[in-house]
Amino acid sequence: MPRLVMKFGGTSVANVERIKNVAQHVKREVEAGYDVAVVVSAMSGKTNELVAWCKEAALAVSGDPVYDQAEYDTVVASGEQVTSGLLALLLNKMGIPARSWQGWQIPLYGDDAHGSARITGIDGAGILKGFAERKEVAVVAGFQGVHKETGRIVTLGRGGSDTSAVAIAAGLKADRCDIYTDVDGVYTTDPRIVAKAQRLDRVSFEEMLELASAGAKVLQVRSVEVAMVHNVRTFVRSSFDDPNNPKPGTLICGEEEIVESQVVTGIAYSKDEAQITLRNVPDKPGVAAAVFAPLADANVVVDMIVQNVSPDGKTTDITFTVPSADYARAMAVLAKEKETIGYPSIEGAQDVAKISAIGVGMRSHAGVAAKAFKALADRGINIRAITTSEIKFSVLIDQAYTELAVRTLHSLYGLDAA
Ligand code: ADP
Ligand code: ASP
Ligand code: MG
Repeated sequence: MPRLVMKFGGTSVANVERIKNVAQHVKREVEAGYDVAVVVSAMSGKTNELVAWCKEAALAVSGDPVYDQAEYDTVVASGEQVTSGLLALLLNKMGIPARSWQGWQIPLYGDDAHGSARITGIDGAGILKGFAERKEVAVVAGFQGVHKETGRIVTLGRGGSDTSAVAIAAGLKADRCDIYTDVDGVYTTDPRIVAKAQRLDRVSFEEMLELASAGAKVLQVRSVEVAMVHNVRTFVRSSFDDPNNPKPGTLICGEEEIVESQVVTGIAYSKDEAQITLRNVPDKPGVAAAVFAPLADANVVVDMIVQNVSPDGKTTDITFTVPSADYARAMAVLAKEKETIGYPSIEGAQDVAKISAIGVGMRSHAGVAAKAFKALADRGINIRAITTSEIKFSVLIDQAYTELAVRTLHSLYGLDAA
């Protein structure tokens, strides 16, 4: 029998009525002859609520917001337990054999980086037995797994159900992985902020990886990595399509399957970054290491880095960005290192946004980014930092101009729908 993995996100399972709609999509594929594993997220808003409860509980005892990450995982994994049980219950009522699987029951193993564990292995034997012996649909709680050595529940980072789905598709050697969400595919930019965004029929793994890491939340970055490494045929499609006549959505595939490509394929934005500037740092060998090594040791991922050429050869300014969530931690680390680094003053800004343009065509076209700098300047948008790579460039700007900047670049590269 051909195998299929279907994944449904939070909005698609937001209440019992929606879960019943999901069951109709599953029924269609079962009747088409597939052995099906369905991965579900928690109901939309549920994970945020659970995260907030952990913070509230920590603060209820002391003013310190730090808490045990293993217990955080126990709490936040519960949202997916509810939706997986409800979907299995509904399918059974509809006469389709089904059972729910929690991460630890499969088991889906993760490392012990609680809160953002990486998948280390999947044992699909139980699910395959259910297919073979009972034609049983496997309803998998996404986002969660178990750490083999400690037996503790782990979660895979926000948006992690996408990664559960693609990894299970790879583990079960499924023919396809369909990621159902609240939009009908991957667009040239977030269709919720640019009405003229266009749906793409195909996107290469590489471009999708860059789009996702630049902030396009439609797929978790790690899910794209897994799809690329294991060559999983992955589609992004809508759970709001008629269950009896759905559209195919967007295929994420190898570059060789893309027939024609634009210079720029898509624009992404991220408001989850913060900027830090160290002023008048001594301009001598070893300073960059003195700044960035302690941050790396504290697990703070630094993204954009700008170092000015020093006018007097003695001191210089270093600007860089860190995830907003790590901003306070990064500032604390740098405060501790003040003497060692030798900077007199530090500035931080959290009201910034990173806008990125992505396209494999950038490899062979010159001046792609230069065009953007001019267009942004014409609209009075100041650029605080720039980074470029082979198929992407990013600019850091004031957050208030996010939408304007995204629309400007979207039009500039000819991506607007007619
Ligand atoms: P789910 O709960 O199904 O996982 P998400 O909210 O995580 O859904 O992801 C879907 C959302 O991603 C869409 O509603 C859309 O606003 C956003 N998005 C951002 N960039 C893009 C893009 N380039 N194409 C499609 N959707 C995008
Ligand atoms: N429920 C989790 C989250 O909101 C995982 C997911 O939806 O993919 O992050
Ligand atoms: Mg998601």
